[in-house]
Amino acid sequence: MDEKRQELIQAAVEARKWAYAPYSSYFVGAAVLADSGEIYDGVNVENAAYPTSICAERVAIFKAASQGERNFIAIAVVTENGGTPCGSCRQVMAEFGNDLEVLIADDQGQLLQETTLAELLPGAFGPGDLPAKK
Ligand SMILES: [Zn+2]
Repeated sequence: MDEKRQELIQAAVEARKWAYAPYSSYFVGAAVLADSGEIYDGVNVENAAYPTSICAERVAIFKAASQGERNFIAIAVVTENGGTPCGSCRQVMAEFGNDLEVLIADDQGQLLQETTLAELLPGAFGPGDLPAKK
């Protein structure tokens, strides 16, 4: 694994300490690498009204998108047990392309699984499935 991917995992490990998970106690850190070379991190942010909580992966991607990023190379997701992104996060990733590399690591930064969004969400519904705008 190259240095940039190691840096990405480390960013997710570092971010994870800011996870706000008072209800599940499932702390997640994520970091996404944009094609600009910038890394954007995110953590899960839970809420007393449970459904309004949001995952670390989406926070990272939305942060990046709100800074103008549209193309992503890889995302690292760090949990204590190597959990993979939920369906909602996979769908958000699919908006920006199916080639995204997904690096799953534990809270020590050890890479447990290296996959792609195409493998995690086969047959994804994406922008190309909508009719062309007139
Ligand atoms: Zn999720």
